[in-house]
Amino acid sequence: MFENQFNGKVVVVTGGSRGIGFAAVKGFLAGGAKVCFLSHYEETGAKALAALKEINPDYEVMTKAIDLCDFKAAQDLFKEVEAKWGRIDVLINNAGTDCSVWITKLKQSEWDTVCNLNQKAVFNMSKYAIPYLLKTKGCIINTASVAGVYGTPTGLPYPASKAAVIAMTKSLAYSFADKGVRVNCIAPGVVATDMVASMPDFAKKSVGDTIPMKRFGQPEDIANAMMFLASDAASYITGACLQVDGGYRPNNQPK
Ligand code: NAD
Repeated sequence: MFENQFNGKVVVVTGGSRGIGFAAVKGFLAGGAKVCFLSHYEETGAKALAALKEINPDYEVMTKAIDLCDFKAAQDLFKEVEAKWGRIDVLINNAGTDCSVWITKLKQSEWDTVCNLNQKAVFNMSKYAIPYLLKTKGCIINTASVAGVYGTPTGLPYPASKAAVIAMTKSLAYSFADKGVRVNCIAPGVVATDMVASMPDFAKKSVGDTIPMKRFGQPEDIANAMMFLASDAASYITGACLQVDGGYRPNNQPK
């Protein structure tokens, strides 16, 4: 679908070792891009890298495991990618985590873990990517969630941090629209990844029943939307929050 669309482009993807991020890495590589993907652990990154080389040994792809909230690590990463491939065109802030604990039982540390990764890492990675994106008139794509649009019955830090991602997307888009850098986000509905595999079966069923298209999304559904937003076809789109959710609306969500 996006064959040759990204020839010569350099893409950085956080949370790229599995799930939605891995589908995006595969999609951009197939579209001709060079890709640096980040993972939580070196071993999972190495495993994902081996799987990609299995698909095509000629893919230009590298992986790193860094703390996405560490200012110096982010600076060093973008410097290294530009030194290797000469440019940076797309940043996909995709890494994220959930914590479905009821507010009265929620620990401060759980709040910090979710908000640091889902929110502060997006700030940190964007801050240090922007100087490079200004040079290439590149773009940022953030992975938000329908939870940030509608809220959820439990797990307050997740919808709070994802709403912040949507607000940061709109604000960054506003700041950089006249400088040629576009910033958009995607709000996935329920997508069949490890994150959803850990939900109890009854919850999966009742949430699944509320999706008008009667299926969970696949990681590729979200990756395709990312590639569209990164492509020239989206050159007049900035500040958008694209819901990719099979029509999901949380009217019947279980408590
Ligand atoms: P996943 O759990 O399969 O993957 C999460 C990715 O984030 C992994 O690559 C992991 O390495 C990375 N990650 C986790 N903790 C990290 C940390 N502390 N530091 C660095 N990287 C870390 O999840 P997924 O479903 O593919 O989710 C990807 C994004 O999509 C997340 O932002 C998530 O909130 C969002 N999302 C998912 C769904 C869904 O239903 N799966 C719905 C809406 C939004």
